[in-house]
Amino acid sequence: MAVDFIVKRNDQPLPDEQREQVLAAPGFGKHFTDHMAVVSWSSTDGWHDAQVRPYGPLLLDPSAAVLHYAQEIFEGLKAYRHDDGSVWAFRPEANAERFRRSATRLALPLMDVEDFVAAIRTLVETDLAWVPSGGETSLYLRPFMFASEAFLGVRPANEVTFCVIASPAGAYFAGGLKPVSIWLSSEYTRAAPGGTGAAKCGGNYAASLLPILEAQAHGCDQVCFLDAVEKRWVEELGGMNLYFVMDDGSIVTPELTGTILEGVTRSSILQIAADLGQTVTERRISIQEWREGAASGRITEVFACGTAAVVTPVGRLASAEGDVVTGDGTTGPVTAAVRTALLDIQYGRTPDTRGWLTRLA
Ligand SMILES: *Cc1c(COP(=O)(O)O)cnc(C)c1O
Repeated sequence: MAVDFIVKRNDQPLPDEQREQVLAAPGFGKHFTDHMAVVSWSSTDGWHDAQVRPYGPLLLDPSAAVLHYAQEIFEGLKAYRHDDGSVWAFRPEANAERFRRSATRLALPLMDVEDFVAAIRTLVETDLAWVPSGGETSLYLRPFMFASEAFLGVRPANEVTFCVIASPAGAYFAGGLKPVSIWLSSEYTRAAPGGTGAAKCGGNYAASLLPILEAQAHGCDQVCFLDAVEKRWVEELGGMNLYFVMDDGSIVTPELTGTILEGVTRSSILQIAADLGQTVTERRISIQEWREGAASGRITEVFACGTAAVVTPVGRLASAEGDVVTGDGTTGPVTAAVRTALLDIQYGRTPDTRGWLTRLA
């Protein structure tokens, strides 16, 4: 079903001068555009009342199911302004498809791919002046869906709200690309077989906050989670997938087991790295292999990837059993090449041979 969006313009948008100030140093996730997209769903009426309307608080009943049982999913993607001023999304259908898979797992209604993309397009068209230009800037788009029904019984909600909000984003690494350090969580896991690890839901993130505090207490930036059963296989970080560069020109990423979130960046890199002449393998990689490979030089680079930070080199792996460091504290050549190749596609600096870009405005 294709929903038609009604646009209700904000009659008090942020003045041009203030918006320009925000766009000059947007940071990440701090400032929001003048509008948001909202679509309602009910079990009786399906998707209805699609709007782009002024950005502002949502009215929620205190008994809204999401506040109690976390029936919620989200997505994250970016709109990129090219040199000619046009604005593009990178593989938005992949986010839309993943949103449908997440919705299935969280017993939320499915939204058509075309409606998901239409919500993004209508919002970006309306807030076009908010898409920054220059450098590695973008407009970060956050679609999400939650159980808005006022009801404390435990069952899938009969009323659901879908929204898209947008936030201008600067270069993630303002001070240049610097390897991050990772804490290996031995006590906590992110996802268990049969759980929600492959769904992009807020609950997974809630469960990762305490391990993140633990990582920070050990002087690390991020957490790496192992599989929940054997506590042996490397899965991913709280919000990014991992890649390992081997000394024989191959690169390895943990295979999807049902507990790893399938990143759009991860799957794009599978293809991009092959273009760069790398042999790419999806397989299980143990924490011993990481430790020993980093120490012996068999593993030459480690990087994390995701929409927000694109490709991030990983330097130190810290754990209760001691530290190992990959590389020399700078960004390795394969990490840098993959990162540049991906950004060149996203910013239209290289031909989009796979049809990954969708023009939004
Ligand atoms: C969103 C997310 C990623 C990265 O996915 P991208 O589509 O590449 O942004 C990786 N892991 C988790 C747990 C995530 O939620």
